[in-house]
Amino acid sequence: MPPEAAPPSPAAAKKPAKKKAAAPAKKAVPLEAKLARLGLRTDMDLVLHLPMRYEDETQVVTIQEACLHGGETSQVEGIVTKNEIAYKPRRQLLVHIDDGTGDLQLRFMNFYGSQVKQLAEGTRVRARGELKHGFFGAEMVHPHYKIVNAGAPLPTSLTPVYPAGEGLPQHVMRKAIADAMKRVDWTDTLPPRLLERLELDNFEPSVRLLHNPPPDVDTYTLLDRSHPAWTRMKFDELLAQQLSLKRAQKARRAKGSPPLSVIGELSAQFQQALPFKLTGAQQRVLDEIRADISQPFPMQRLLQGDVGAGKTVVAALAAAQAIDSGYQAALMAPTEILADQHFRKIAAWMEPLGVKVAWLTGSLTKKNKAAATQLVETGEARLVIGTHAIIQDTVQFANLGLVIVDEQHRFGVGQRLTLRNKGNENAVPHQLMMSATPIPRTLAMTYYADLEVSVIDELPPGRSPIVTRAIDQNRRDEVIERVHAAALEGRQVYWVCPLIEESEALQLQTATETHALLAEALPDLNVGLVHGKLKPAEKQAVMDAFAANDMQVLVATTVIEVGVDVPNASLMVIEHAERFGLSQLHQLRGRVGRGSAASVCLLLYQSPLGGVAKQRLMTMRETTDGFEIARRDLEIRGPGEFLGARQSGQAMLRFADLETDTWLVDRARDVASALLKDEKYLPVVEGHLERWLGGREEFLKV
Ligand code: ADP
Ligand code: MG
Repeated sequence: MPPEAAPPSPAAAKKPAKKKAAAPAKKAVPLEAKLARLGLRTDMDLVLHLPMRYEDETQVVTIQEACLHGGETSQVEGIVTKNEIAYKPRRQLLVHIDDGTGDLQLRFMNFYGSQVKQLAEGTRVRARGELKHGFFGAEMVHPHYKIVNAGAPLPTSLTPVYPAGEGLPQHVMRKAIADAMKRVDWTDTLPPRLLERLELDNFEPSVRLLHNPPPDVDTYTLLDRSHPAWTRMKFDELLAQQLSLKRAQKARRAKGSPPLSVIGELSAQFQQALPFKLTGAQQRVLDEIRADISQPFPMQRLLQGDVGAGKTVVAALAAAQAIDSGYQAALMAPTEILADQHFRKIAAWMEPLGVKVAWLTGSLTKKNKAAATQLVETGEARLVIGTHAIIQDTVQFANLGLVIVDEQHRFGVGQRLTLRNKGNENAVPHQLMMSATPIPRTLAMTYYADLEVSVIDELPPGRSPIVTRAIDQNRRDEVIERVHAAALEGRQVYWVCPLIEESEALQLQTATETHALLAEALPDLNVGLVHGKLKPAEKQAVMDAFAANDMQVLVATTVIEVGVDVPNASLMVIEHAERFGLSQLHQLRGRVGRGSAASVCLLLYQSPLGGVAKQRLMTMRETTDGFEIARRDLEIRGPGEFLGARQSGQAMLRFADLETDTWLVDRARDVASALLKDEKYLPVVEGHLERWLGGREEFLKV
């Protein structure tokens, strides 16, 4: 049997003529080390390293038919009619095959000398790859190929393709996994009765089937992962995650927290002094929070509410309760602008009631910082508002009872954890996290199993809906006209500059240029500019002028993305909207529609639009509902980005899909609760966690 030719590795490509040259490099990094890089350390790790997909080599189509499905992967078989090394401009091997229905070029940029001989004219080749219609007709670039005899049988089962890494070709992965399968302990971690009740297959046959699908398997269910064998894997994975999270929750609950049960004078006065009445939804979630923080164990609650729903005041009322109960509260925000806005607003509410509020950010002078730190340490400041400067080592709290994290998704897990550890030795502060980027229910459930969620699902009264339009950027003049008209009517306008991820300098330059351009086009208006490189005081001056309506147009980078609250602004222009993600667009748009005036958001785009960008802009036009937007976002780009720092954990779900496997999440959750309730299941729990998480459980604990 002729050997299967693996595509040459880049290392080999440097010395195309000497196949042996690759050998010493291989020795340098032992197989175990290469596998370890993929997190594969134990035999069970390898066994649970399941194929990410399968290749269907069970069929051969004619070249003619393959040509009809250009762009798709197919397998063809033909006789080599031409074999030449061309220089156009790079040295490459061009091989033509013919099967009687048509001609196909196989192109190899990197190749061994032996391959040139192997693919001599007259040889029969089976090639598999993506067929493209190139300038010189149909071709496959770097196809997988095999030299075969006429009538050579096709494989009868699908070929597994494993997630692999450098120096780990598929055949090496296959062998390593097959070897590991011979050594592991296959005992099922779950009791037979449970499996029966859940209608789940046994562990061993499921794993074996996924590595080596038998010829009669329903291919479709294997590929879309709905096969019962996959279901078992997904369930096991989700169960491990739920068990781990719930155990962490239990451990946390075992710690004490100060019961913040006094709803006293401050709370009452504060609520009375508010210029508005809380909405029903605000009152409801406030009651939930009040009940939680009155308990002697830590609250861990996420307060979700769409942009503009009024989360700040709820958080401030929770802080008031902490203060009434004799404890301190801290509020941390991700940007200086936002922290500052919170500080002004909340201090204006609270200081007249006799509460000292401290302000703490990285940009304070040494002296001011020391003074603020002192206020926090002595307990004179009952409330501390700031950026992540709050969590620095030098800051010691007198008696921290409640931690509030605004726009929590902007912080890493580590930062949130540090703030929580700022309590006294035996008392963990209660924790309230806020986010306008809604975490879809399934995600909240899987990644924050021990997180309670409160939702403000109602906007304050009198808001008018935001109309969103997508406009080609070559109509910019019309847009500038609209900006002018809005300003003349007394409204204010945000003009958001394009996101340039690769270069902050370029982003800054664009913002400066846009500002100059608009200032020139609108000479009768005051056009301001705010960006991340301004000094805090300068930033503040600009924001103040805008808030006071001394400035009609504010050109801004994404520094205004979260939290900024100027209700009179009712027109937002976002340039190069196609470069922004959905949640970012939604956050930006949330800066308008905060007052009673009808608001408009114009998404300028540069055509032609790619598919994903088009979907995003369409979503923005169709809905202003943050939850719907989050759901579609999850659909478009998958769960990774919602999780922030958490995605670095190896504990990310590998098999379960949160969109399609919600029902399994529910089950895993129930089973986890049941297993943890009864001591007698402890061995089951431990065994299952060991198999699925090994030493990686820590990742899930924060
Ligand atoms: P977000 O939930 O996006 O953080 P904010 O807390 O910034 O929203 O509130 C948005 C605006 O709505 C603020 O100007 C706030 O004072 C105002 N607001 C909050 N609650 C109410 C209410 N019940 N009635 C009227 N206005 C409210
Ligand atoms: Mg907010």
